[in-house]
This record gives sequence, C-alpha cells and structure tokens, in this order.
Amino acid sequence: MKLIEFTKHYPDEASCRLAFKQYREQEGVKCKKCGNTTHYWKKKREQWECKKCNHRTTLKSGTVMQNSKLPFQYWFIAMHLITSTKKTFSAKELQRQLGHKRYEPIWAMMHKLRLVMGMRDDEYQLSDEVELDDGFFKTVVAQRDKSEPLKRGRGSQQQTKVLVSVESKDANDEHNPKKHNKKKKVRFIKMRVMNSLKKDETTQLVEEMIEKGTNITSDKSNSYNGLNKNYDITSQVIKNEDVNKVLPWVHTAISNAKRMFLDVHHRIDDDFLQSYLNEFCFKFNRRYFDNLFDRLMIAAVSYRWNWLGEENG
Ligand SMILES: [Zn+2]
Repeated sequence: MKLIEFTKHYPDEASCRLAFKQYREQEGVKCKKCGNTTHYWKKKREQWECKKCNHRTTLKSGTVMQNSKLPFQYWFIAMHLITSTKKTFSAKELQRQLGHKRYEPIWAMMHKLRLVMGMRDDEYQLSDEVELDDGFFKTVVAQRDKSEPLKRGRGSQQQTKVLVSVESKDANDEHNPKKHNKKKKVRFIKMRVMNSLKKDETTQLVEEMIEKGTNITSDKSNSYNGLNKNYDITSQVIKNEDVNKVLPWVHTAISNAKRMFLDVHHRIDDDFLQSYLNEFCFKFNRRYFDNLFDRLMIAAVSYRWNWLGEENG
C-alpha cells in the first residue's frame, strides 16, 4: 500500500479502531470462555458480547495488541512501515517519527509484530525440494535486569547459529530460468535460531519446518544424521566453488538477511534474533503478494504473544 492510500484509509484513531474491528470479524471472534463465535457488538464500550454466555471481548484482547496502551494508530503506522519498506527499520526511527517519549513501548510493539509474523509462518511447512544449511549471525548476549526485562544493558558479542531451509526447485520448466542467474527457483524460506549445536535439536527443528518425505539437499554434517528416518536427504561434501550450484538459495537468503540487519540494527540481542528473522522470512515469503499490510493485519488479529513477564489471559 502506498503512503497516500494509507493516510486516506486510516487518517485517525477512530478509522483504525473501526478497521481493526472489521479485520477481527472477518477472521472470526471467538469467546474465550465458551468458544462460541456469535456475538453482539456493544458500540459504546467497543466490545463484543457472547450470545451464549455474555462474556465480553475487548477490541484488543486475544490479539497482538492485548495489554498494549499504545493507540491503534501507532500499530497501524508500524504495520504500514514494516510492510511497505523493502528492508526494515529500527524502533528508534519509528519512535522518532511518532514523536513518542518512551523507546521501550515502541520497541516492544515492533517485536510483538515480528513474533506474530513467525506464528503465522509456523502454520506452514516446507515441502517438495528443500535446501538446508546453517549460518552464524553476530549477536549480543545482553546482561538483563530481570525486573526490567526490556532494558538493555551492556553485553558480550557472540555468533548465534541459525538453521535455514529453503524450498528450491530446478528452474528448467520455468518461463524465465535466467532471471536470477541461478539454476534453481526459490519459493518459501524458514529460519530458526539454534540453542545448541546438537543433532537432536537439528532434527526437532527440521521436523517443525519441513514436511516428512521431503527431498533435502545439505552439506555433509553430523548434525543431520537424525534426518534419514523421515526424509530423503542427500548430504554431500560441497566444495566452495560448487556452493552456488548445490545450495544457491540458502546462502543467498543468509547473506541477504545479514546485510539487512547490519544496515538497520546496530546490535541484535540474541534473545530477539528470531524475531528479526521472522520479519525477514514473512516478507520474503509474501514478496509477490499485492497487499502485505492485509496479511500482517490478519496475523495481528489472529495471534497474541505471551510477552516477557506478562500474565496469561
Ligand atoms: Zn461465551
């Protein structure tokens, strides 16, 4: 969506609230108490009332905005910026543009949006033919004050391992195989931060990301030893000069993500690397969609994230 359309559609807080209500109703409002999906709309209070048990649901509850005190318009602006920029932008920049006094709520809002992007993508698995490899991302291990989890202290640098999988297929039958100067054509990607470098975690992450029975191509590594059972895996020692032929997209994806992060974020806390990866993958996976704002809005009304230190419910 272009900026001019965005400002026309959502000029103020009231228009954002109304649009958010419509997005929620389009996806279906479900009563938290009894599971019923038919409601009365209480206009004055801006709440839904369950037709069965009278339980009330506020506009924000059960969505990414739950517990947020920020105006709807902030969320809409953030979603517009995230989905209309090719790269990404920092919370500091958004805070400056909004003229908001405090950094933390803006920072948290952006991370919540990235987290629901990940939850949305977690609903799909890769299949068919998949390239699999890992890459290391520079992160900072923050020394966090537990009473103020969002406060960022000094930290030490480290390399965090990320498992990357990409659906890629021979492009012989495509209309324009030379477009990317690669032999294969890429479809969807997934990236997951690894806590250990062990075989069991690799197997578990792969089983979450990739459908059983998929053809997987990977570099030779002991951490893939557990994959034979459910996958048709070809692991081979790949010479440097052959990497672009055998695993072309997995390496392109890793270097594009690294460059994007480096350009925008001064430092990446290891706790939040996954969230940046979510944004990268969500946008990449929907690169041919006309209305990315719409896609993010659906994720925003459908999921909520149990944020650091927040209570359930
Ligand atoms: Zn109910």
